Amino acid sequence: MKRTIVIGGGASGLISAIFASSKTNEVIILERNGTCGKKILATGGGKCNYWNANQDLKYYHSNHERELKKIITKQNQQEVLNFFQSLGIIPKIKNGYYYPFSNQAVTIQNALILECQKRNITIKNHSYVKKIEKSQKKFIVTTTEEVFFADSVILATGSKAAPKTGSDGNGYLLAKSLGHTLIEPLPALVQIETKGSYLKEWAGIRTDAILTWYENGQRKMQETGELQLTAYGISGICSMNLSRYISKGIKNGKKEKIKINFLPFLSYETKEQYLAWLESQNRIVQKRTIQELLEAILNYKLVRIILKETSIPCNKNFQQLSLCQKEDLITHLIEWSVEITGTKSFMDAQVCSGGIPVTEINPYTMESKKQKGLYLIGELLDVDGSCGGYNLGFAWMSGMLAGKSCKGEKNDTN
Ligand SMILES: Cc1cc2nc3c(=O)[nH]c(=O)nc-3n(C[C@H](O)[C@H](O)[C@H](O)COP(=O)(O)OP(=O)(O)OC[C@H]3O[C@@H](n4cnc5c(N)ncnc54)[C@H](O)[C@@H]3O)c2cc1C
Repeated sequence: MKRTIVIGGGASGLISAIFASSKTNEVIILERNGTCGKKILATGGGKCNYWNANQDLKYYHSNHERELKKIITKQNQQEVLNFFQSLGIIPKIKNGYYYPFSNQAVTIQNALILECQKRNITIKNHSYVKKIEKSQKKFIVTTTEEVFFADSVILATGSKAAPKTGSDGNGYLLAKSLGHTLIEPLPALVQIETKGSYLKEWAGIRTDAILTWYENGQRKMQETGELQLTAYGISGICSMNLSRYISKGIKNGKKEKIKINFLPFLSYETKEQYLAWLESQNRIVQKRTIQELLEAILNYKLVRIILKETSIPCNKNFQQLSLCQKEDLITHLIEWSVEITGTKSFMDAQVCSGGIPVTEINPYTMESKKQKGLYLIGELLDVDGSCGGYNLGFAWMSGMLAGKSCKGEKNDTN
């Protein structure tokens, strides 16, 4: 009988244990928390967005992105979907985002733990692994209480994001002790902090917008979606998706800026076209003040802030504005510029960019190239996904591959 030890009972650890277990391979999960899958419960606002129908590689990020196409294959995607179906999970799919039909993350956590129990996988909670050594063919895994011997070890300790859920970055040290290197982890999918005298006033506003990100004055990327304006800056999926790049830019001393377009339903190219549109709106609503005209389109609090910033009196009619005032108004509506001062910390981040380089593992099996029998999976690796179920998606696919390999099953694409 062989033995696999899985360190970390999060999303990737649980699925890897299930795929690793067989009549000839005993599996033990060592989890530091009192229960497995604590982070799963926090995902998708408690509903767990566990997958996305659109598995385009552009939603997965890494310093070695070319390696990812060997992991995120059509076959692996289908196997993950089959796996969840085999657990009895019925998906509720909204714009391609998968949630369990119950709308409760606990459904996913329970299904994984019950499957572990069905397969006689031993789950040892309150087991913090502090050391892994290799002596000849066996691994020696030491927790604060016990010592275990294993033929293979799956390291599934997560990153440094959301340390309250158990992932505090100690897994990087365990991987390094076995010969791996580390690409500096930075907070990703995290809120962005900005400057501005209006921040207190705009806190609480939610509005759809197009964000354009600039680095050192150079236009870099655009994201569209619901934006949350907060007392520290901005949040919401569209800004979170930019945060991985902004964290890195700030770390490297670059000047980061975002321009907000509060009129995402228009797709004009020039300011003259926006001006003409505003004139046509004014003709429709006739005799309204500029404040009333804009309140028919945007959140009323936002309208007041925009008018205050442009110093346009609220009670003026659109025709009474000078061309200069009209142009200034358009600039504030479609190019509201925010100067970025930083991002929130690992405490608030959903994931990390950086981690153990994917070039240090075999992407078909997730086995370490530094240490035979050691596997690295999930967020511990230098892979982070966009919002939308991609981070769990990577946890499932990488965990499944490692588990199959420990059991001795060959991956067809190998
Ligand atoms: C608030 C929030 C919302 C999110 N929402 C989504 C979403 O909707 N969709 C999505 O795809 N992704 C989401 N994510 C990201 C996703 O949850 C993670 O990418 C994913 O859980 C990573 O899985 P993992 O197994 O690699 O690591 P983790 O889930 O972090 O699991 C690591 C486990 O290892 C344990 N551990 C660590 N060190 C040790 C040790 N030394 N000994 C023993 N145990 C140890 C930890 O306690 C933990 O249980 C969200 C994250 C957060 C924080």
